[in-house]
Amino acid sequence: FMKYNPVELIIKKRDGKRLNRDEMKFFIESYLNGKIPEYQMASLLMAIFFQGMQPEEVQTLTEVYINSGKRITFPKSLKTVDKHSTGGVGDKISIPLAPIVAACGGKIPMISGRGLGHTGGTLDKLESVPGFHTDFSDREFINFVEEIGFSIIGQSEEIVPADRHIYALRDVTGTVESLPLITASIMSKKIAEGAQNLVIDLKVGTGAFIKNMKQANELAFLLTKTGEKLGQTVSVVFTDMNSPLGKYAGNALEIKESIEFLRGEKISDIYEITKTLAVEMLLLSDLAANSEQAGKMVDEVIENGAALEKFKEFIQAQGGNPRVCDDTTLLPLANYEVPVLSDKTGWIEFIDSREIGYSLVEIGAGRKTLVSKLNYGSGAFLPKKIGDYVQNEQQLGTVFCDNKQQGKIVAERIKNAYRISEKKIEKGNIILKIQSAFS
Ligand code: URA
Repeated sequence: FMKYNPVELIIKKRDGKRLNRDEMKFFIESYLNGKIPEYQMASLLMAIFFQGMQPEEVQTLTEVYINSGKRITFPKSLKTVDKHSTGGVGDKISIPLAPIVAACGGKIPMISGRGLGHTGGTLDKLESVPGFHTDFSDREFINFVEEIGFSIIGQSEEIVPADRHIYALRDVTGTVESLPLITASIMSKKIAEGAQNLVIDLKVGTGAFIKNMKQANELAFLLTKTGEKLGQTVSVVFTDMNSPLGKYAGNALEIKESIEFLRGEKISDIYEITKTLAVEMLLLSDLAANSEQAGKMVDEVIENGAALEKFKEFIQAQGGNPRVCDDTTLLPLANYEVPVLSDKTGWIEFIDSREIGYSLVEIGAGRKTLVSKLNYGSGAFLPKKIGDYVQNEQQLGTVFCDNKQQGKIVAERIKNAYRISEKKIEKGNIILKIQSAFS
């Protein structure tokens, strides 16, 4: 016996009508217990992608996701705080950010995701550390947060199983870039994990799912309203995602870069975004009286090594080899390097970062199907940003791969993702706007 016919619910959404709580609950529960197959879930997701959802419908969907599993709570006095990104290319910010905020006294219960579409995922990056895993019980997760200051785990069969399965399905069915689906996915994880406060890094540009400020404002509205309704304080930092973030994209390569950053290497875009987000997090958790004080705390824990020590402690607690922090050659690295050469002289005017992300999926940095295996050591070194000057035949970057032939095709695709102008191009700001919960 089935309470509804799933086909009728798909058609209802396809035709632009609203689904009510009972219908959403039925659909998602039946999908999770195997009564509704992947193809019908995929079809509903595509219908939501095209038809959208009203803000109240999004809140209901988020609650249905949360109620598919357990909800963790922390004592109010801990003032838990978390950060989430809407996704970008080379976006490894959570990895240095969490230990920095924890070293300043913050308590961060973080449920992250895997790669999605052309973007990488924090969990995949961390799992490139030999031995590291994320399948801990909620008791262990709570203990890590209370004792170390942070933990990073994934959605599980216990916590937001709806997002665990739907997230993976969206990744391989072209249904990622939907504001309602992004909101339910992010907010369900962030509420179920027990974060009382949240900072969203809302990425805007060619490497993001959100292409312009109009869409970005709409998403910020859905995220903050949903947080408000479900008892979470949300600040939103809008950041530029037109150039790949940092210098590396690829799972283990981004761990290496994060470690170098925590060791004190000044990588300007990573530093600016990490610091801005950390300041918001410290303010939300009442650990600093003002932005200036919070900023000083952040610089101090990088300089005195306390943040790197926290990261080590975290890697060890979650089963990984903490020696990667002293010796990054212990991380996997692909066998071949293929240079990406510019075929023009001038200033970089535009980078199709989404194209870069998808080309890296070809060498195993992301998935094409639910059962795809990742190549943790593959990726690219891409240090050039919009506004940088390059010369003909100069290296734009390097592809790291295990199949040289494929690597050459990827290097060609990446080269074609850069548009170079003869006129000087100004560099834009990386922080586009801060919508603080306090203002
Ligand atoms: N991050 C998520 O967790 N979910 C999305 O849908 C997009 C980014």
